[in-house]
Amino acid sequence: MQHEVSVCKIFSFDAAHQLIGHKGKCANVHGHTYRLEVVLKGRPVTEEGRSDEGFVADFGDIKALVKARIVDKLDHAFMAKGDEPVLETLQASGSKVAVLSFRTTAENLAGYIAYTLRQSGLPVYSVKLWETPTAWAEVLAADIPEHGPAYCLNGGCDL
Ligand SMILES: [Zn+2]
Repeated sequence: MQHEVSVCKIFSFDAAHQLIGHKGKCANVHGHTYRLEVVLKGRPVTEEGRSDEGFVADFGDIKALVKARIVDKLDHAFMAKGDEPVLETLQASGSKVAVLSFRTTAENLAGYIAYTLRQSGLPVYSVKLWETPTAWAEVLAADIPEHGPAYCLNGGCDL
């Protein structure tokens, strides 16, 4: 049998957030250029003559799915938990917001992205989200419970 192979597609998006209650400067509204690495793992298709022969997954298909489910939603948005005082003003002015219902740390965002992509049928192995050039959070899809990340248990989660 063909051995397993990891493949990775990298994305970038700009977004703002505010961590209410943070002891430091992340309590302010601020933004990041996020780097998103989506890793898939599987055995390449072995059937001859298929479009995806030799692929774990077609990079074009991965790109389209991640763009539609994640990047288009978060790029140039204010990513909100829902308790930010500025949220109402942004919504009233027509500014782009993504209300996620969890504290928008890199850790939680990586879990949200991994779970959303897994629910979309992508054989996602891991998601690594770079918040800055020197800081990232990584979640293995297999570590996320069937019903979603832990923060979904606390109500109000839009997953
Ligand atoms: Zn931040």
